[in-house]
Amino acid sequence: MRYEDFYRRSIEQPESFWAEQARLIHWHTPPRQILDASQPPFRRWFVGGTTNLCYNALDRHLAERGEQLALAAVSSETGLTRELSYRELHREVNAFAAVLVSLGVERGDRVVIYLPNIAEAVFAMLACARIGAIHSVVFGGFAAHSLALRIDDAEPKLLIAADAGMRGGKTIPYLPLVEAALAEAKLVSPQVLVVDRGLAPQRSARSERYLDYATLRARHLGDEVPVAWLESNEPSYLLYTSGTTGKPKGIQRDVGGYAVAMAMSIRLIFDVAPGQVMFSTSDVGWAVGHSYNVYGPLIGGATSLLYEGLPAHPDPGVWWRLCERYGVRSMFSSPTAIRVLKKQDAAWLKKYDVSALKWLFLAGEPLDEPTAQWITAGLGVPVIDNYWQTETGWPAITLMPGLELKPVKFGSPGLPAPGYRLKVIDEASGDEAAPGEKGVLVFEPPLPPGCLSTVWRDDARYVASYFEHFKPLLYSSLDWAIRDADGYTTILGRTDDVINVAGHRLGTREIEESVAAHPGVAEAAVVGVQDELKGQVPVVFATLRQGVGETPGQAAAGMRRCVVEQLGSIARPARIYVVNALPKTRSGKLLRRSLQALCQQADPGDLSTLDDPAALDEVRRALQRGPDD
Ligand code: AMP
Repeated sequence: MRYEDFYRRSIEQPESFWAEQARLIHWHTPPRQILDASQPPFRRWFVGGTTNLCYNALDRHLAERGEQLALAAVSSETGLTRELSYRELHREVNAFAAVLVSLGVERGDRVVIYLPNIAEAVFAMLACARIGAIHSVVFGGFAAHSLALRIDDAEPKLLIAADAGMRGGKTIPYLPLVEAALAEAKLVSPQVLVVDRGLAPQRSARSERYLDYATLRARHLGDEVPVAWLESNEPSYLLYTSGTTGKPKGIQRDVGGYAVAMAMSIRLIFDVAPGQVMFSTSDVGWAVGHSYNVYGPLIGGATSLLYEGLPAHPDPGVWWRLCERYGVRSMFSSPTAIRVLKKQDAAWLKKYDVSALKWLFLAGEPLDEPTAQWITAGLGVPVIDNYWQTETGWPAITLMPGLELKPVKFGSPGLPAPGYRLKVIDEASGDEAAPGEKGVLVFEPPLPPGCLSTVWRDDARYVASYFEHFKPLLYSSLDWAIRDADGYTTILGRTDDVINVAGHRLGTREIEESVAAHPGVAEAAVVGVQDELKGQVPVVFATLRQGVGETPGQAAAGMRRCVVEQLGSIARPARIYVVNALPKTRSGKLLRRSLQALCQQADPGDLSTLDDPAALDEVRRALQRGPDD
């Protein structure tokens, strides 16, 4: 079928279109109503239908593909590989679900999962889905403060953590971070279930309080736990993402709409059919990991390849060796990962037989043309850039090779995915921008199935964050974009204070708060500055308190330590400049954009609101002098 016809139907006849897509999944009770958009910007898909993500991901496939490989979890860190058929995965998930039930976890309870990219993370997620508990996976690279914020907001009954993760051969103990987070969290004190990988033999004082997963698993292996049939719009999971405030938002996903979006997109966007292999290099802690390491491939009856490790460790051929070994058809990664590989010998791309590979999908940050050209030529397969957000849960702008491959245009992720009423509008007037003109990327409600339902326990924040920028009601992506005459959209970067480091979204406010936690700091401004490898990196400008007596170098080291300890090394500032004043408007707002422009040797823009011109000179001098650490 032609893409244009398919897309047009999704927009003009959304109910019949999505009713048809809904047949891709199993419904315990069929929906009574396909779409209820009576209370915009909220909308409910497949109202009255009951279903279950775990049933669709596992039980439904047992009769036809019980012995097929469902999950291969490969760790280049530990050297271990675990392969599970659908039947074996079903058994593990049932055992895990029985463990959850034995610990008193019930439908609607939250479970925070703080695990590396290992098979147990998949078991835990699916086990929660099975019993209707709401999982909230926290990326293992986040540190104690990030974890504490999420614990306080989600109020979990249970926290599932590993003893440790590994990165580049180095062990990263998780339990000290868990302890610091629990000490900081104000509202709840969840039980802690530990998946002990035997990586961190040093046990802590609290270890008697921990529940041991292996012991409980052994007790419950062989148990069958009945599926909880959830109404389509009940929450399935929360995934926290950074915004412009210091407090991350709990993006809340539904059940039925998400299952349908996964079933459709794995087939028509990612071109993966039952029995075929999908390899997403993402971590389960990100939106991509949820959708295309776990739910998408499994709901689609495919094989999911999960990878713990770095792209070029132990050598830059590791991913292509896996493609050869498992006959990977579709691969999903990030531009940063490809830029890491681009620094290595291109011969690694030719060393293994990757003839089963049909597509490489890249997302999370802008894909620069040299990187796209290099990997396209090296692998000899089309590279499909696709744009999405944690909020959307699946690509919003992409090509759909599983339906019809439209021409790839370097620099653009392509065309709107089904159901996305995409517009690029002028920021001031709200009118649609002409082709080639820059504007804000928006989606007219109702958002398609799979996108967020709301912000956890904060409908007002959902409305204020996304829908109050324009009238009439539009979902603002908070990204700048340009559309060409063929409808291809190019993303030009964020309109807010969010930065994108190696494809991961970080709020500058969160980093500023952490920097300011260093006692010597009076005030801090953080901006995202272009970086050849990571896309952007955080750069700090800070003023110091009088009378603390630290040198700028000591203060900078202290600030960096605070960020790494509180947020994790993912947010580690690349450069720190100590200055006497920060550029602000007369009303006291930090001029982050001007700071960012100066760091990139660009025009600092409109300075008419600048309070003290000396502050800008101060920044210029600091940049000339070089960072203080
Ligand atoms: P996250 O929610 O962490 O996935 O971050 C979403 C943000 O990443 C978007 O709002 C964009 O700023 C950026 N982004 C994601 N995919 C792309 C892409 N293909 N091209 C350019 N920017 C992207």
